[in-house]
Amino acid sequence: MPRTTGTSPKDSIAVHYPEAVEWRRALHRCPQPSWLEFFATAFVAEKLAAWGYDVRLGRDVIAEDKQLLLPDAATLQSEYDRALKAGANPAFLAPARGGFTGVVAVLRGELPGPTVGFRFDIDSNEVAETQDQTHHPARQGFISQNPGYAHMCGHDIHTATGLLLARHFADNRKTLKGAVKFLFQPNEENLSGAAAMIEKGHVDDLDYLVGGHVGLALKETGLVCFNIHSFMALSRFEVAFTGRPTHAAASPEQGRNAMLGACSAVTNLYAIARHSQGATRINVGTLEAGSTWNVIPDKANFRMETRGVTNELNEYMVGKAREVIEGAARMYGLSVEMKPAAQALVTESSPELIAVAERVAKTLPSVRQIVPDAPFNASEDVCPVRNTDPRRAPQLHLRCRRDRDPQRRGVLRRLAERDCRVGFGVPVFSVN
Ligand SMILES: [Zn+2]
Repeated sequence: MPRTTGTSPKDSIAVHYPEAVEWRRALHRCPQPSWLEFFATAFVAEKLAAWGYDVRLGRDVIAEDKQLLLPDAATLQSEYDRALKAGANPAFLAPARGGFTGVVAVLRGELPGPTVGFRFDIDSNEVAETQDQTHHPARQGFISQNPGYAHMCGHDIHTATGLLLARHFADNRKTLKGAVKFLFQPNEENLSGAAAMIEKGHVDDLDYLVGGHVGLALKETGLVCFNIHSFMALSRFEVAFTGRPTHAAASPEQGRNAMLGACSAVTNLYAIARHSQGATRINVGTLEAGSTWNVIPDKANFRMETRGVTNELNEYMVGKAREVIEGAARMYGLSVEMKPAAQALVTESSPELIAVAERVAKTLPSVRQIVPDAPFNASEDVCPVRNTDPRRAPQLHLRCRRDRDPQRRGVLRRLAERDCRVGFGVPVFSVN
């Protein structure tokens, strides 16, 4: 890990903590979801540039062909304008126009050493925030000002924590050994922001990669955990059935009913046999079909996801789901498309990094207890997924060591060749 001999992390937290709370509250007031994080992008970039970081933005950061589920042009424009109105600096905002949100920033020390990546996600959720006075942001007056959007997963805290850490390294640049690279990643919630940054080569030069999340299994401030396990691999698809519309009374036999195909697929997706080797999940979250009373529906669409506690188990679910969907299409004479919408792989933290993090955490007065291990029981986009097409994705864990699976490809292989260690934990400090 890069070391400094200047201000200790403990001192940096003490000095900058009140400012970090204000950053978090500013971010909380202006939440924007996946590919629309314009305010956060400009907010972060302006500060990092002022602190001496080499800041990359826009198309230097995000690969256009990895922008899955990009919002429509009108939404992109209105959220861009919202960020401007909220006070975002236009110079740092402009490169993000069109959904090219996110920031990569590098600080090089004057002494040789490794390159350490720190990844923080910046997107909000698409939910309305409660006005209930028992809710901390409502009581303290920093509730969301963007109707329908709110930071309910804590990514505003992640972003402010990342800035606090970046400030620590900037304060100690003269004694920094190696380099630090901050990846403020968009679109974690829809699980394709990491792939878009990786495609641009931003993890290729890393020796270590650290990510984290507040809350989760740890419910009290002062508890931290670096050995987070039980991630779930995930694949999401938009499924579209197309049939033939006809009059439901005059010529029903000439129709091809897309709704029937979709409904048959949905009920049979839930009937996929469980796997003996571990837990799996499946869900169809939306279903839309048909047009009016008397027309055989020619269109039916649903959104589905599969998960597994290993990449292989998730692949089993994807394979079976594909058989069910294609089978249903054949049964009703339909065509069908399964469009990949997101993917996350299972990740595993490096024991060496866990030991380093625990050693540092013990020196921090804000840490009350180090929890030895905790389950995640969900999916996370911190995984360096090279390819978002689940049929071609590498089947790997993230603890990349040179002597492991020779089939590794893409970024994972490059990380492995460099013996990059990956860590995922709960930050040793967070701001509220
Ligand atoms: Zn989250």
